[in-house]
Amino acid sequence: MAPSLLITRIGELVTNAADGSGSGEFAAIGDAALVIEDARIAWTGPAARAPAADDFLDAAGRAVLPGFVDSHAHLVFAGDRSAEFAARMAGRPYQAGGIRTTVAATRAATDAELRAGLHRLAGEMLTQGTTTFECKSGYGLTTDDEARCVALAAELTDEVTYLGAHVVPVEFAADPAGYVDLVCGPMLAACAAHCRWADVFCERGAFGEDEARAVLTAAMTRGLLPRVHASQLGPGPGIRLAVELGAASADHCTFLTDADVSALASSATVATLLPGAEFSTRQPYPDARRLLDAGVTVALATDCNPGTSYTTSMPFCVALAVRDMRMTTEEAVWSATAGGARALRRTDVGYLAPGARADLVILDAPSHTHLAYRPGVPLVHAVYQSGRRQLNDPPSAKPRGYSTG
Ligand SMILES: [Zn+2]
Repeated sequence: MAPSLLITRIGELVTNAADGSGSGEFAAIGDAALVIEDARIAWTGPAARAPAADDFLDAAGRAVLPGFVDSHAHLVFAGDRSAEFAARMAGRPYQAGGIRTTVAATRAATDAELRAGLHRLAGEMLTQGTTTFECKSGYGLTTDDEARCVALAAELTDEVTYLGAHVVPVEFAADPAGYVDLVCGPMLAACAAHCRWADVFCERGAFGEDEARAVLTAAMTRGLLPRVHASQLGPGPGIRLAVELGAASADHCTFLTDADVSALASSATVATLLPGAEFSTRQPYPDARRLLDAGVTVALATDCNPGTSYTTSMPFCVALAVRDMRMTTEEAVWSATAGGARALRRTDVGYLAPGARADLVILDAPSHTHLAYRPGVPLVHAVYQSGRRQLNDPPSAKPRGYSTG
């Protein structure tokens, strides 16, 4: 059994646990402490009332948050699309076909090359405070290539998503129905054992409503849980389909109809907003306020992918959500932690209260607000995953504090 650890003199402890569990709204405690025992949070509260523990860490007034939960990422791929990005910034619009460029590079890559890229991106995530992430396939699009992509993803996360229905590959351009049959049949059979989730890019230029329903229904028959890429490039049927199928999340939600908003508000389906995609494609941001004011549960995630959002940074997404989507700092941090956990139907992460997994971030800042107030600045001081410190100590020998006392 690992020794227990008391982290004390926390300037602001974001718990998301006003009611003692992760189901509540944003909540925080000033001048706080917490105790980690057996990879779980054992106690949280005012520093003055903290119990004793085997080991002790002085947070020196820093803020402590639940580790970020990035519920939407595409990390298994090869190749580089920076030229496409530069061209788009020079005025060309994004179209879904750009995915095929990455498909060709991914098919040509060895397992070792794909694994190296995946590990590099997962390492970037951890460095920026992400302690749980989802990872999709979708750049193989043959049975063998999708199967190796989900197997590689499963080496690093339990939240693996089958996205054979990302785009119709060129060899099926004349027979999209044949491709849907492959995705629902042999490809799904080869991938299902490594996956918890199935996803479809339900969009003009990708897959329509009937195709998306067929893919998700086939996957659900095999025990996978549905989620949907919906209404990124224009209004469409994806959000209502996600609600109809009881999906954990409808992702993007950039083009919302009134019917979409009321369907989400009256369901348990989370709206996962991916502002890195709008940032990188110069699309209008999703209307987070409309969703929040209607009572929809909102998550924030990176959508890390080589074409439309090549960022692994949840702090960056929090900053965009606050600056450009008019979420409050509290809403944005909740959505990047507890909201992501909801979008993955996880009850053990996204909050800090007794029983939660001891996944947490210590910021080199006195409050969560600094994530948006100091955009682009590496504020992550330390990351703990299941109670174990993951990052090396910072180089400074002298601790810098934020407490005046
Ligand atoms: Zn995506």
